Amino acid sequence: MTKKEAPFDRGNLMKMRDMVYACTRCGYCREKYSSDMTKTPAFRVCPVREHSGGFEHHCARGKLLIAQGLLEGRVGYSQELVELFYSEPDCRLCTWVCNTMPLIDPPQVWRAIRQDLVEAGLGPPEPIRKIDDRVRKSHNTFGAKTSRSKWAEGLDLPLRSELLYFAGCYSSYSQTETARATIAVLRHAGENPAFLGDSEWCCGVSQFHDGSILLAKQMAEHNIEMIISSGAKTVVTGCAECYKSLKLEYPALVGHLPFEVLHTSEIFAGMLAEERICFDVEPTEKKLTYHDPCSLGRYLNVFEPPRSIISSIPGVELLEMQRHHDYAWCCGYGADMVNSVQPEVASDIAAGRMAEAKEAGAEAVVTACPRCVRALSKAGRGMKVYDLTVLVAMSMGLLGMKNRGNSNDVWF
Ligand code: SF4
Ligand code: SF4
Repeated sequence: MTKKEAPFDRGNLMKMRDMVYACTRCGYCREKYSSDMTKTPAFRVCPVREHSGGFEHHCARGKLLIAQGLLEGRVGYSQELVELFYSEPDCRLCTWVCNTMPLIDPPQVWRAIRQDLVEAGLGPPEPIRKIDDRVRKSHNTFGAKTSRSKWAEGLDLPLRSELLYFAGCYSSYSQTETARATIAVLRHAGENPAFLGDSEWCCGVSQFHDGSILLAKQMAEHNIEMIISSGAKTVVTGCAECYKSLKLEYPALVGHLPFEVLHTSEIFAGMLAEERICFDVEPTEKKLTYHDPCSLGRYLNVFEPPRSIISSIPGVELLEMQRHHDYAWCCGYGADMVNSVQPEVASDIAAGRMAEAKEAGAEAVVTACPRCVRALSKAGRGMKVYDLTVLVAMSMGLLGMKNRGNSNDVWF
C-alpha cells in the first residue's frame, strides 16, 4: 500500500464531531454584518478566503463541510486538502463571529485534522516539516547554530530569580533589540529578571499548531523543567505565540503549572499604573494604531494593556483600525503556517492589514508580537512598525529614537 493509499485515520477529528455538525451555514464566518447595517458596514471575516480568490472552501463554513465529508468518508485526502488545512493561521476570527458561539471553535477542528494527518504520515507539508526538523535538531525555529543567549551578552543576566524572561526564538535570534529592551525596562522598574540562557528551547508553537504533538510535548516538558529549576514564580514573554504556548498549551498538556505567565504588555501596564515606569519622550510618529496579535487578543483576552500603554505616551493619539480588538484582522503569520505553505497569501494578508492602518490615518503601527512585527514590516508600505516593548523603552528614554521601528536585526 503506498503512502497515498494509506487509510486516513479520523480519530482526532471524530472528537470534534459535535462542533463539525453544529454549523448552521449562516455564513457569518465569510462576512460579518452589524445589527444596524446602516451604521456599520459589513466586513470580510476570513483572511485566507479573502486572499485566496474568495473561494468557499477557505472559510470556516466551507472547511467544516469538508470535515463532515471526511467524517462520513465521502471526502478522501489529497495534496490540496493537506495544503488547505495547513494554509491556516488559526486566527480565530471565525470563532468570534460564529452565531453558535461558544459551541463552534473552528480552529480546534483544523488542529484535529492536522493531528490526524501527522498520525497518518500525510502532514505536515514539506516547508513546515523543515521547521519541525530545525526545532528537533537546533531547538529553535530558524535552525540557527549560534548560541541562543548571544543577545544577552554584556547584560550579566542571572539564571535564577523569581522573575524569568522567556525571550522566544524571534527575540533571541532575529529581533534581539526587543529582548534587550525588555531587560532594560524591567531593570529600570527595579526588577532583577533572570533568563534560561542556552537552556531555553523553542516554545513549540509551530508543532502544537501543525499536529506534531510529540515534538511539541518534548519542547514543553523541557522548558517547564528549566523554568521550575530556575526558581521562577513569574514568567514574562513579549511574544504572543510563546505566551499562548506557555499559558494555554503547556497547562493543557501537563496540568497546573507552579508559575504565573504574563505578557510584557501586562507587566508593563501594571508598572505604569504603579508609577514604577513613566514616559517622557515623544515618539517621532504621533498617530499610532495598534494591531492585536490573534494569540494575545482572541486567544487570551489581552486587549487593553497594550492600548493603555500606548495612550500614556506623551503626544500620542491612538487610532483604531476598522477591525480591532476581538475583530482584528490577522497579520497572516500565525505559527508560521501560511507564510510557509503559501507565502504570497500571507504577504497579501499583511499588506491588507497595513492598508487598513493607513486608512485609519496612522503614521506607524505598534504590535506586541515579533511575528506580527515581521509580517507587517515586510508588508511595509513605507510605514514603520514598532514592537510595543521597543516603543516603551524609547518613550522611557532607554533607547534612542533614530532608526527605530521595523527594528529587525536579522531576517532568517
Ligand atoms: S481561523 Fe481565521 S483564517 Fe482560519 S477559517 Fe477561521 S477566520 Fe479563516
Ligand atoms: S459562522 Fe459558525 S455557524 Fe455560521 S457558517 Fe460559519 S461556522 Fe457555521
